[in-house]
Amino acid sequence: MPPGDRAGTPVTGTAALPAAFGAGPTFSFEFFPPKTETGVRTLWNTIRRLEALAPSFVSVTYGAGGSSRDRTIETTERIAAETTLRPVAHLTAVGHSVAELRRIIGRYADAGIRDVLVLRGDPPGNPSGPWHRHPQGLGYAHELVELVRELGDFTIGVAAFPERHPRSPDWESEIRHFVAKCRAGADYALTQMFFDVRDYLRLRDRVAAAGCDVPIIPEIMPATDVRQIRRFAELSGAAFPEDLAHRLEAARDDPAAGHRIGVDHAVEMADRLLAEGAPGLHCITLNKSTAALDIHRAVRPARTGCVRPAVR
Ligand code: FAD
Repeated sequence: MPPGDRAGTPVTGTAALPAAFGAGPTFSFEFFPPKTETGVRTLWNTIRRLEALAPSFVSVTYGAGGSSRDRTIETTERIAAETTLRPVAHLTAVGHSVAELRRIIGRYADAGIRDVLVLRGDPPGNPSGPWHRHPQGLGYAHELVELVRELGDFTIGVAAFPERHPRSPDWESEIRHFVAKCRAGADYALTQMFFDVRDYLRLRDRVAAAGCDVPIIPEIMPATDVRQIRRFAELSGAAFPEDLAHRLEAARDDPAAGHRIGVDHAVEMADRLLAEGAPGLHCITLNKSTAALDIHRAVRPARTGCVRPAVR
């Protein structure tokens, strides 16, 4: 059903995050599925260190263009089987038929995974290239939300874009489609990375003004390596603040100083977001624990739902 036909139906999510995530504000982490044996070892060292914080949940990304399907499923299954963590599996519609999507969702359910971050994905090869749906697939995230809802009792997250999705022609359509995605059955949203808290607050106000109270968890990216962050920011369309870039450039030959600058900026953002009532923080780790631990340690502890680190 096109989202417009749902006008007037109540928004499914509530202002509270899913109870399964525990008491808020939540604190959670994002990992990506590694490609090599060394990468697997690095990820699992990180997982064990961050597990000690008892985060509200951890999420595992799905490779661009649907490329990492098996590695995402294996990593998520292993987290569910071998740790105390609650894994949220990212799932994109791109490159899959509906039959394949049904099978993947079934595999998640068989592994006891009850939390899915539902995304459309970008075209393989060139993320900003023309979007074509799989001939037997889906065109937009709201259709995948409906499919996941139909297949089981999952908590469903969707993507939100503080600086607007790069393909959206204007804010009016951005918000209309976001609200439709929530109405299709999303419980909460996770944002794209951003570097200016005001962008998050404006998005939240726009969504609220459209009558949608789905909680939106901001994603925090520790900007510790200027080249890497510029590349990510370009890919995601996030504006990278020039003053932060200059400070990081100046510390180019001093990784410890770069790390401090990136972590301090992330902590400043995190504190302000929580003071403004953000329901939690989702921290991108790039499969390393140091910045995530530093941020968690520095964000005022009483504000987050997870415990102090037992190890460093
Ligand atoms: P949609 O909600 O479908 O929106 C895509 C565009 O279409 C938007 O411009 C929207 O306004 C528009 N639109 C929506 N519905 C309609 C409609 N009915 N008619 C016309 N236009 C419409 N990508 C990956 O490959 N793997 C990941 O693991 C991954 N994780 C992510 C995690 C987060 C927190 C975020 C924010 C993004 C992530 N992405 C990931 C990127 C994401 O897949 C892309 O940004 C993608 O282009 C948009 O996905 P979406 O789910 O927001 O799509």
